[in-house]
Amino acid sequence: MPAQRVCAEPGCPTLTSARRCDDHQRQREQARGTRQQRGYDAAHDRERERWRPRVERGEVDCQASTCVMPERRIQPGQDWDLDHTDDRRGYRGPAHRPCNRGWRRGQ
Ligand SMILES: [Zn+2]
Ligand SMILES: [Zn+2]
Repeated sequence: MPAQRVCAEPGCPTLTSARRCDDHQRQREQARGTRQQRGYDAAHDRERERWRPRVERGEVDCQASTCVMPERRIQPGQDWDLDHTDDRRGYRGPAHRPCNRGWRRGQ
């Protein structure tokens, strides 16, 4: 049986036979996933910048499949995100931030 040592994460007292306890190992893996998404986010940012002038002129309707705002039109100054297609391979277009992030009343 491998020797147990405390988790390598500073301040964590959990004994583990790996470098980190299960929780911190998982946290590490999640952090790595986030970093990998950044390359993909560069393309996302470019696409978003292409839309920005039109959104800021109030010319674009929310493209989310379900819009939770009173009006589809994205008003200048409102927070918006670039919505993905459902398969996440492309972009549907701008959507109000609450609509894109699935913030629905009652959820
Ligand atoms: Zn730990
Ligand atoms: Zn919307």
